[in-house]
Amino acid sequence: HAKAQGRDVYCFFENSMNVNAHDQLQLLQDLRHALAQGELVLHYQPKFQAPAGPVLGAEALLRWNHPTRGLISPDRFIPLAEKTGLIIPIGEWVLDEACRQMREWVDAGHDEWTIAVNLSPLQFSHDRLVRMVTETLLRHGLEPHYLTLEITESTAMRDVESSLAILSELHAMGVRISIDDFGTGYSSLLYLKRLPATELKIDRGFIRDLTHDTEDAAIVSAIVALGRSLKLGIVAEGVETSEQQEFLTKLGCDSLQGYLLGRPVPAEKFVEADKLLSRP
Ligand code: C2E
Ligand code: MG
Ligand code: MG
Ligand code: MG
Repeated sequence: HAKAQGRDVYCFFENSMNVNAHDQLQLLQDLRHALAQGELVLHYQPKFQAPAGPVLGAEALLRWNHPTRGLISPDRFIPLAEKTGLIIPIGEWVLDEACRQMREWVDAGHDEWTIAVNLSPLQFSHDRLVRMVTETLLRHGLEPHYLTLEITESTAMRDVESSLAILSELHAMGVRISIDDFGTGYSSLLYLKRLPATELKIDRGFIRDLTHDTEDAAIVSAIVALGRSLKLGIVAEGVETSEQQEFLTKLGCDSLQGYLLGRPVPAEKFVEADKLLSRP
């Protein structure tokens, strides 16, 4: 789907064209120090059972609190981190911090939630991934079912056999697997059937015009049917209007995520928002 795929490609080129070589180098040097200086932060976006709750958990989304540039979104520095391999230590920090936060939430009684962490292609193909995940969960005394790993459909499709091996290992441990940006990566159905995933997350590109674009509506409805028959949960991302919320619920989407129901926020605000929602 060109509309959805074009988004990430556009962001990448936009960044490398608008920022000159000197700025890029500066950014890379700053990024190298950001980790040690504690400038990376996680925001958390709630995931809701359709149509409007309860909260099922949170997706951890990385931000860089840059000393002079302010809060930088991941689209502006993850491609650079991915290109230079810095994403490996950054990703380890993200997983550790997300698991630490989840431990805190479980201790506070939110043991029905799961924490979702995004993995980039390089992280996913890194040979220490499974060990890193195991060690991080152990370090925080967190049972594996509290963790959902999100990998995009295109990442999962890159090397089918190796993806199957890694995902099977994680799945066997009890970690949940979410196939992110689903619908943009040309999965073969035969492969999808073998994929040990927990849920499909429909790409935002299909949700945007859903209520007035009959093709997008047909695609979303087909993904829901596919997920149902493969016994996978279906999540819609990027839900911004109550029309989309209603439409997706009618189509049979299990869970919803988007600005309508909750924006990514720091951990303190996340729990506040949940308290407001659960108030009788
Ligand atoms: P993603 O995993 O597909 O995350 C969804 C993105 O959509 C997030 O952008 C989120 O803030 C945004 N979003 C959520 N609801 C809405 C909505 O209703 N409308 C719109 N327009 N946008 C919405 P964000 O936080 O800028 O992250 C962008 C991408 O960066 C993520 O896409 C993910 O691929 C990557 N990313 C974020 N954090 C991490 C991380 O810790 N590690 C890695 N490897 N990648 C990350
Ligand atoms: Mg995601
Ligand atoms: Mg996504
Ligand atoms: Mg994405």
